[in-house]
Amino acid sequence: MIGRLYQGVKDVADESTTLGALPKICHPERPKGVEGPAFAFPLVPQSSQFVNADELHEECGVVAIHGHPDAARQAYLALYALQHRGQESAGIATADGQHLANIKGMGLVSEIFTDDVLAKLPGQMAIGHTRYSTTGDSALLNAQPIRVDSTKGLIAIAHNGNLVNLGNVRARLERDGAYFQTTSDSEIIVQLIAHSHAGTLVDAIADSLSHIEGAFSIVMMTRDRVFAARDPRGFRPLSIGRIRNSEGPDTIVFASESCAFDLLRAEFIRDVLPGELVMVTEDGVTSRQYASGVPQSSCVFEHVYFARPDSRIFGRWVQESRDQMGRQLARESGVPADLIVPVPDSGVTAAMGYAEQAGIPFRMGLIRNHYVGRTFIEPEQRVRDFGVRLKLNPVRNLLEGKRVILIDDSIIRGTTSRKIVRMVRGAGAKEVHLRISCPPTISPCFYGVDTPSKKELIAANKSIDEICSFIEADSLAYLSLEGLLKCCEGEKHIGYCTACYTGNYPTEWVDAEDILPATVSL
Ligand code: SF4
Repeated sequence: MIGRLYQGVKDVADESTTLGALPKICHPERPKGVEGPAFAFPLVPQSSQFVNADELHEECGVVAIHGHPDAARQAYLALYALQHRGQESAGIATADGQHLANIKGMGLVSEIFTDDVLAKLPGQMAIGHTRYSTTGDSALLNAQPIRVDSTKGLIAIAHNGNLVNLGNVRARLERDGAYFQTTSDSEIIVQLIAHSHAGTLVDAIADSLSHIEGAFSIVMMTRDRVFAARDPRGFRPLSIGRIRNSEGPDTIVFASESCAFDLLRAEFIRDVLPGELVMVTEDGVTSRQYASGVPQSSCVFEHVYFARPDSRIFGRWVQESRDQMGRQLARESGVPADLIVPVPDSGVTAAMGYAEQAGIPFRMGLIRNHYVGRTFIEPEQRVRDFGVRLKLNPVRNLLEGKRVILIDDSIIRGTTSRKIVRMVRGAGAKEVHLRISCPPTISPCFYGVDTPSKKELIAANKSIDEICSFIEADSLAYLSLEGLLKCCEGEKHIGYCTACYTGNYPTEWVDAEDILPATVSL
């Protein structure tokens, strides 16, 4: 059954200005004992932001640290490694057994958390969050962690993913007297915890998580405990690691991706299981399965695009999956060519696999400018027309007179792909063939990836031949769904969500409007 998705991230009230109007039961607070611009860093003006509307964005990365004398700095390092999962805002909350401080702001992790700011976050425990926010979103107000004074005590919470039954849950809570400060998913989770009749906090968390539907990898912290949990379908990744300490208990670390552990010199222990709630206290680590019996549907697009190749997610190295995707693509849709050229950075690993399988030289024929920040001085023309050239530049002496196979990880609206194909041809390439390391994206995501509606997805509205002529390539081919799933299969069988390629959603609640195809030609 298809229902309406509650739009959970817009029109958010300002935590800091509406504080006085809130009832005692559960409300976000300003941090105490934090001076200066502790709560709000300046917003980056929208007009100067670089936004490529044809790229997909993950919404968040989360981390948690328990048992480290400088937990804030550990969280900072972990967030630094997860910066690819969101570049618009970041936050860290810490606890020292007595107090719970929280600082968040707009910008990159390294811009927000200077030494002075980190010094205002004392404690042996920390949770952190980095976020991508959609255009026009009240970004700072949705920055996390959210710090809440609830009937169950002070809680800081951060999550990655998207809940899909918010309307129902929120309406029920409001009938029970809940007063909402924001429309963020995190506050709904905390309200559920505050209203739970369970006797203990851990029971209340387990009870609350069993009432929500959708994608969530959550980290939570009280004054003296850290919690981590994944939704029962395990949409988003979340792993547990450990920093060994010869003089005391080990530091326990949670992170969206295992690449964050490397920077902390932490060892990977295992993934938090779908439907598992893990609690870390001074006495050690305990875990319970708060939900079971639901088929796993981890996001296959994490392997295709979002996660870093040096991360191990869902029991498998991302690098291995992408390499296999390239090889499989070469087997399925090989074409005579002189060069394999990746669209950097995300197309690189698949392109290497393709080149090796096809026996065709791999060359970096497109160079990405890594220093294109979120802000730049806008040229006269509109930003979207300028964005691709700002980011990518062809290596003319490599491409001139060559038959080129370009490898990329997705085509969303098709406009960026067309610009890249034109750019390579304009640099002298004789032929330009485009190969995509996943199936056509025909449906939007409701589980934490910011995809446009079906009306805007080119593959939902055009055939592959039509897309090929739209992007002006000599040929176009996508990896098959069977091929993709084979490439992401690890030692153990993993159930994957493939809804953006099939339109078959693992949960019931999706937005009916967003899954309607375009009525006119794109
Ligand atoms: S719809 Fe696509 S992007 Fe969203 S969770 Fe499923 S596979 Fe991932």
